[in-house]
Amino acid sequence: MCPRLRRRSVTVLLLGVGVGVTAGCGPDPIPGTEVGESAHFRFFIDPDRADDLSADPQGTKRLAELETDFADKRTMLGTPDGRKIDYHLLTPAHVAAVCGFTEFSTSDGESACFLEDQMAIAAAYVPHQHELIHAYMTLVAPGSRPVPFLVEGIAEAIGCSRPGIDRTWQVAWQQATIGTAADPDEYVYSEGGLFARTLIRTQGIDAYLRYFRQAPARRDWALFAANFSAFWGMSLDDAWTAMHTVSPGDSETDVEICPCSLAPAPTDGRPITNDRAKHPYWTLPDTFGSSVAVTVPSGDLVWLQDCAGIAPEIRTFYTGSPVGAPVVAEGVVAIVEVPDARPRYLLPPIGTLSVGRFLADDCAAAEPYALSENFLGGGHLWILANQTTAAARTTHATLQVSVATKVATETGYRATICNGCAFDQGSCPVELSRSLNPGPVPIAPGTLNVEFVLARSWLWAGLPTQAIGDLMFGN
Ligand SMILES: [Zn+2]
Repeated sequence: MCPRLRRRSVTVLLLGVGVGVTAGCGPDPIPGTEVGESAHFRFFIDPDRADDLSADPQGTKRLAELETDFADKRTMLGTPDGRKIDYHLLTPAHVAAVCGFTEFSTSDGESACFLEDQMAIAAAYVPHQHELIHAYMTLVAPGSRPVPFLVEGIAEAIGCSRPGIDRTWQVAWQQATIGTAADPDEYVYSEGGLFARTLIRTQGIDAYLRYFRQAPARRDWALFAANFSAFWGMSLDDAWTAMHTVSPGDSETDVEICPCSLAPAPTDGRPITNDRAKHPYWTLPDTFGSSVAVTVPSGDLVWLQDCAGIAPEIRTFYTGSPVGAPVVAEGVVAIVEVPDARPRYLLPPIGTLSVGRFLADDCAAAEPYALSENFLGGGHLWILANQTTAAARTTHATLQVSVATKVATETGYRATICNGCAFDQGSCPVELSRSLNPGPVPIAPGTLNVEFVLARSWLWAGLPTQAIGDLMFGN
């Protein structure tokens, strides 16, 4: 009987690092049939995933997604061609059997494993960015098996997704650096990821990879620290303090580094085809200091993430549609004042994207933005702007409304709607705030000049912060 490894989010390193597999025993054979092959992958589908087999019998779409991931991550890792990676798309139960899980956990979406001796990934979805990095690293650093803190750290360091970790929370490096992938505290993931990201950002990916290749395999904190200071010329104590320190303007939440090598989203305002094989994320085009208007389906979020993973996220809140309102494809519009020139990306699906001066301090300077008729039947408009001083932020938008509808606000702050820019004359037909008129107010079609007094978002601590306002449309 072979011993079972109880893991949650694991790299199964069957050789070395003391995982303890009995000699002569191998893992369960991986169920699945090879359906297709590409330049860097062979793709297998579990016979129990009949829907996937019928939807993509040769795995063409999945292989395209995997090749896009390979090419994107290669821009950072310099991944060489080499042995093909076997990607097994399995049922969660089969992932558990192959990886040695005793139960399937969905808490972090990471239930999967990389079987290094077979160059195989077992996962319940495609592409599993964490396990793919493990596979790429066997090509980038063949034969290198540093401590799990570094192996899991790099797998958590590079990716394009939303969740992050609290940078200010920390444990002693003496504890984190000797952890294993199976430890329930998961420090090798959280602290290891932050450690790798910080080194990549500050020292560059090439230097980080050189460090990875020579780092010790033995889980010994004194050895780890000595190697660290010899390699980098700085003390691990100092580096640990720095990586848990939030610089002004950065976020307390530290997120994966996204290569952002993919082409930016088109900016002509026409509907965007969200082909995840080509665009698992959309990079934000250069807005040249203007604002950007993004639409997403009802109930979804507009969420701009910093490619480097350190700037505060810019996002709308989750809200329901008005009662009885239909779910529409472009039911959420966010007009975003992009705070700086840092590269950013959005996760699909997005409906449309337009760049223009849709927000302006001066009402007359706001470029008109046309709201679609579908949107006006039950849509949520968000204004996301910068707030750099303690004073409330006021901004203007000019909205083109093609049909009669009703409008309300949820943020509780003020939105004044005028036909023109005479906001200070007391003659504007509609003044909205949650306390004034909690119900929707009728508006006629036409051009609406809106003055927003924005609320400060609770998402960011301190200044600068995100200032937020909203209008809900629908009858
Ligand atoms: Zn892992």
